[in-house]
Amino acid sequence: MPALDPATREALEARLRFYRELGLTDFYRRPVDASQIINSAPESESLEPAQENTSIPPRKTFQAPPPIAAAVASTDRASALQLIREDIGDCTRCALHKGRNKIVFADGDANARLMFVGEGPGADEDAQGLPFVGRAGQLLNNMIGAMGLKREEVYIANVVKCRPPQNRTPEPEEANTCSPFLFRQIDVVRPEVIVALGATAATYLLGQRQPLAGLRGRMHAFRGSKLIVTYHPAFLLRDPRQKKEAWADLQIAMRELGLKPAVKTVS
Ligand code: URA
Repeated sequence: MPALDPATREALEARLRFYRELGLTDFYRRPVDASQIINSAPESESLEPAQENTSIPPRKTFQAPPPIAAAVASTDRASALQLIREDIGDCTRCALHKGRNKIVFADGDANARLMFVGEGPGADEDAQGLPFVGRAGQLLNNMIGAMGLKREEVYIANVVKCRPPQNRTPEPEEANTCSPFLFRQIDVVRPEVIVALGATAATYLLGQRQPLAGLRGRMHAFRGSKLIVTYHPAFLLRDPRQKKEAWADLQIAMRELGLKPAVKTVS
């Protein structure tokens, strides 16, 4: 197959990221028909994802999370989280370690009532060692503020703790290797509500790949916490019209936590 030129490749990657945020995650290449190459479609059409081929088996199973650990006293949670960080160490358990700068463990209050789970660090997070500190993080901060909370009052972590190359979606192998640490973090913090940001967080927390549309707008249960699913802030930056929908999701969490909105809309 001929190599894609950089501009087409970038456009294709952006389009795939966009579909991924909608919860469309599995794409398959159609067999190449030489006659179609000669009479090829315009470039913009060639960026459409292939139809899902249901005869192709699912890519990978999801690892069962370990049993829920015994509750940690609120006074011991910060040190219990520190122990998990020490267990991670200078991790080389999956291939993501090769490209990382810093391991991004988490940020926020060990006794938070509300926890946000994202996908994995981007470039800014990889440089600073903190989750959600780039543009998507600014929007997440605004969302948290709109809920009447400060960033320091919530707990924020990701499915994988090392940046995937070119910010690609973590491979199941990588996410399954790293997510037990996330489950342990959840078991220590015991948030009342978890907000899964985007399809990857929802997939690895709920243990099944499903379109976001079928998961949003309702409460799920996860390891003793309530869980809601909403759009990833990076997706909302690309499609701000969906902020209204995300705000509706956050209001479900707010009702559960008895929070009053600080503002009416997320901006
Ligand atoms: N996107 C994520 O999913 N997590 C981060 O920490 C930053 C961006």
